[in-house]
Amino acid sequence: MLKGKVAVVTGGSRGIGKAICEAFEREGATVVNLSRSSSYACDVADYSQVQQVFAQIIKDYGTIDILVNSAGITKDKLMLSMKPEEFDAVIKTNLYGTFYTMKQVYPIFCKKRSGRIINISSVSGITGNAGQTNYAASKAGVIALTQSAAKELAPRGITCNAIAPGFIETDMTVDFQQNDEVKNKIPMRRFGQAGEIAELAVFLASDKASYITGAVLKADGGLI
Ligand code: NAP
Repeated sequence: MLKGKVAVVTGGSRGIGKAICEAFEREGATVVNLSRSSSYACDVADYSQVQQVFAQIIKDYGTIDILVNSAGITKDKLMLSMKPEEFDAVIKTNLYGTFYTMKQVYPIFCKKRSGRIINISSVSGITGNAGQTNYAASKAGVIALTQSAAKELAPRGITCNAIAPGFIETDMTVDFQQNDEVKNKIPMRRFGQAGEIAELAVFLASDKASYITGAVLKADGGLI
C-alpha cells in the first residue's frame, strides 16, 4: 500500500512509532525513524535540531512523502503540584515538536502537490484527564493544529489527520497495565496494541484514504 514512498516517523524508536515504522516497511515504504536515540537523532522540541535532521533526510533520500508525528512524553501530576517547567516540557515536545516537523515537510509537499501528515494525539486531548493538564492541553493542541493545517493544505493535495488512541500497551502506560480499575473502564476490557494503531496509520497514509482530511480517528476500545 505504500510502495515507493518515503516516510518519516518521529518517536520511531519505541511503542506506537516503532509499530508504525514496522507496518510501513511491510507495506513497501522506505522509513526514516527519528527520535533522540535513533540513528536520525533529534529532539523534536528543539527547532534547530529538527531543521538540521530534515535537511539531512532530504540529502539522503531526496524527498519525503509521509510524515507521522508519534514522539511524545507525559509528566502526569495534579495541577497543584505541577511545575511550570513540567507543563512547558510536555507542550514543547508534543505540540511544538509536531508543528516543527510539519513546517519542514510543508514546502516539500506543496511543491509536489501531494503528501500525508498523521499526528498521534490522544483521547485525553478530546475529553481531558485529571493529572494530565499539560498532556491533555498538548494533545488538544495537536488536534486543532491538525484540523487547521488540513484546511490550509487540502487545496494542495495534502491530507492531514490525527489518531486519538486510548490506553495502548507501551512504555508510556507501563504503570497502569496491571490496574484492573483502569482496564474495567475500557468497554473492550483490554489495552490496545501498538500494532492496532499502526494499521490505522497505514490506512491514512495510503491512497485508500484520499478523501479523508482533518479527521480525528479514535482507537480506544470504546473508552470515550
Ligand atoms: P513511548 O513508548 O514512550 O515512545 C515515545 C517515543 O517518543 C519514543 O520513540 C521516544 O524516543 C520519542 N520521544 C520522546 N521525546 C522525544 C523528543 N523530545 N524528541 C524526539 N523523540 C522523542 O510512547 P508511545 O506510547 O509509543 O507514544 C507514542 C505517541 O502516542 C505519543 O505521542 C503519545 O502521547 C501517544 N499516545 C500514547 C498512548 C498510550 O496509551 N501509549 C495513548 C494515547 C496517545 P526517544 O526516547 O529515543 O527520544
